[in-house]
Amino acid sequence: MSDKPIANLIIGAGPVGLTAALELNRRGLPFKIIDNDGEPTPESRALAINARTLEILESSGVSEKLIEAGNKVEKITVRNQQQTLLNVDITQSPHKYNFLLVLPQSQTETILIEALKEQSQNVEWYTSLKSITPMDNLFKCNLETNDELKTISAKNLIGADGAHSTVRKTLDFSFDGESIPDIWSLADVEISEWPYPFNNAVVTLTEVGPIAFFPFGEGKGRLVSSKPDILNNLPSGMKVSKSTWQSEFKISYRQVASYQKGNAFLAGDAAHIHSPAGGRGMNMGIEDAATLAYLIEKNQTERYTDLRHPVGEKILNFTRQQTERITSPGMGLSIAIKYLAPLAFSIPPIRNKALKTLIGLDTPKPEWL
Ligand SMILES: Cc1cc2nc3c(=O)[nH]c(=O)nc-3n(C[C@H](O)[C@H](O)[C@H](O)COP(=O)(O)OP(=O)(O)OC[C@H]3O[C@@H](n4cnc5c(N)ncnc54)[C@H](O)[C@@H]3O)c2cc1C
Repeated sequence: MSDKPIANLIIGAGPVGLTAALELNRRGLPFKIIDNDGEPTPESRALAINARTLEILESSGVSEKLIEAGNKVEKITVRNQQQTLLNVDITQSPHKYNFLLVLPQSQTETILIEALKEQSQNVEWYTSLKSITPMDNLFKCNLETNDELKTISAKNLIGADGAHSTVRKTLDFSFDGESIPDIWSLADVEISEWPYPFNNAVVTLTEVGPIAFFPFGEGKGRLVSSKPDILNNLPSGMKVSKSTWQSEFKISYRQVASYQKGNAFLAGDAAHIHSPAGGRGMNMGIEDAATLAYLIEKNQTERYTDLRHPVGEKILNFTRQQTERITSPGMGLSIAIKYLAPLAFSIPPIRNKALKTLIGLDTPKPEWL
């Protein structure tokens, strides 16, 4: 049993908890970060790192390392099985990070952990939050490490513990929304034939729905489909030599009504989950965590929900719209992309707005940047 309360206890060392740790540390604020696993996720999961995240992680020296490790996607092509419908040149974005950085989440987490280690900070692995008792402006947290129980008191409790958050459930935050029954599939693949360069993401509209390919680098990348069994429905022109990871998943749209209860705060998937369309989930969570660290330093945590809830709502609506648009049956989408999108992209204000959205700069710029 440890009696001395700690200032900031972060539950979860996914990309969001690790960002909270780095940002608190950068601001000279003490913290402890725990995770019930023993290492970063081995799965590639969230792939796209956008310009806002790179802006945020620049100050801790992480962005440079992410860029070095990742693959810059500079162009997105939309086609059907016969012809190209649209090319979007991301390098036309008027920003220094005028690309989408594709990097498996396993590597993103490893780089964040290394950055913490360089600052002599470590994650307390194999440590699980079991229960929380709010008491006298503190949270008494029961933690379990290798079957040993201990209690820690914390002033600020940061729940970055993912979609099934113990912090959210134990403190009874509402998490309303809906789950969609459709099954999506993804596969990380090595490919032997593909007619596109590897700085080019490609969305192919097929009879079974759209299939997106995001290259990790030369000869490898992620396929995503809004239907099951992606490896039996490959886009034309692609030959897969090996699949290194496959998964099927369903989409839910949920957000907490408030991101805080007293000094307990939620960030990342603990606070919001939605469709992967647009690659916003991890990026938005990283922005939650950095915003919270800033507010803790400023002693202005009462503003956290007001700053983050509208952003969550906007992104939930945006990803829902995009998902419904790309999965709607019929020829309407092909026709709209072939004839209307190029017209829209030829109008500079519309093109700039679309590019800003694509690289994640469509939400208010964080105050400290
Ligand atoms: C199969 C799959 C594919 C995905 N693909 C994409 C994608 O293509 N694009 C995209 O943007 N997003 C994708 N995501 C979502 C993306 O992974 C999340 O948005 C991102 O991981 C959120 O980060 P986080 O830190 O909030 O939560 P997580 O990454 O879930 O991290 C939470 C951490 O908390 C720890 N934890 C949980 N409970 C406790 C506890 N009680 N005590 C201690 N530690 C605890 C967990 O071990 C974990 O390390 C995918 C997710 C999955 C599962």
